[in-house]
Amino acid sequence: MTDHRIALIPGDGIGVDVVEAGWSVLQAAARRFGFGLQGDTFPWSCDHYLRHGAMMPADGIDRLRPYAAIYLGAVGWPAKVPDSVSLHGLLLPIRKSFDLYVNARPHRLLPGVQGPLRAEGFDILCIRENTEGEYSGAGGRVHVGTPDEVAVETSVFTRRGVERILRYAFAQARRRSGRLASVTKSNAQKHSMVFWDEVTEAVAADFPDVAVTRYHVDAIAARFVTDPASLDVVVASNLFGDILTDIGAAIQGGLGFAASANLNPAGGVPSMFEPVHGSAPDIAGTGRANPLAAIWSGALMLDHLGETEAAAATVAAMERVVARGAVATPDRGGTATTAAVAEAVAAEIAG
Ligand code: ATP
Ligand code: MG
Repeated sequence: MTDHRIALIPGDGIGVDVVEAGWSVLQAAARRFGFGLQGDTFPWSCDHYLRHGAMMPADGIDRLRPYAAIYLGAVGWPAKVPDSVSLHGLLLPIRKSFDLYVNARPHRLLPGVQGPLRAEGFDILCIRENTEGEYSGAGGRVHVGTPDEVAVETSVFTRRGVERILRYAFAQARRRSGRLASVTKSNAQKHSMVFWDEVTEAVAADFPDVAVTRYHVDAIAARFVTDPASLDVVVASNLFGDILTDIGAAIQGGLGFAASANLNPAGGVPSMFEPVHGSAPDIAGTGRANPLAAIWSGALMLDHLGETEAAAATVAAMERVVARGAVATPDRGGTATTAAVAEAVAAEIAG
């Protein structure tokens, strides 16, 4: 029996609620499909910071390294600890240390969910570059406070960085419909985005079975709304991906459904799986948090671990519970608790 060892980081606020709920669903999938899922919990959070002066211990990264994956809830509690501290003390070091350069988010409108669009059949996988580009941090300001002040924010795109995100996206397109949309703004950004287009063309030669279409970011943003069925896998830079995934999350019904994977496809280090939402202090500990985004993120983790059948069954179970509509949290207009939704999905997996 394969045994997967998972590092659980519930984090703050509803992160704690949804990781507990999601983990119980993943356990049900493990029982049903006959593999082992061992979890060790790391209480690294803003409370940890307030007690120990750090979001995680100094050897935190080394302690995570042996795990097959990290399952994370949410990190941050702005009223107690500045976001800059919580982000730089936990999430960013994990992403950086394990070089989790892929941010993958499935945006699908599940049957039974009322999204803001009239269109049905929204199903897009967004692949966002997670380590460089517009968020490289390069730049600065001169003549500060004077009328001559200039602020420069430099995007940094490396051939290694662009090529590896595109290779991952092409592989995902091959796994799905064989269609890939590559997002740039090469009409206005004539260095970085023209470079991105060139690398896309080079990588495409290795994937003759994938049809790649280039879109400018403004045009594809509109297309998310007007003609999403024409899109399947979408690959974009850090900034463009950031914006497009917010549109995707909104169309799929909001934060209660938005799941994400932070991946290093090469393996050898743990990849990290987390719902897109934050700690939501307003509903923390009340049992009102929608666990579906965390459950979905857990399914992405199972898929990454090679438990593809269990992953598909988890998503299918979630879909059936959502479609029936009876067991829903308050954000979806229901009265069910976080735990009740998880129990319903787990029961559906057990069959
Ligand atoms: P953070 O600072 O960690 O991002 P936040 O206060 O911005 O936390 P978010 O989680 O980003 O909170 O979400 C904003 C609001 O959306 C929350 O305050 C909450 O009301 C709602 N929300 C977010 N996630 C969920 C969820 N899983 N279930 C129900 N409501 C949610
Ligand atoms: Mg937030």
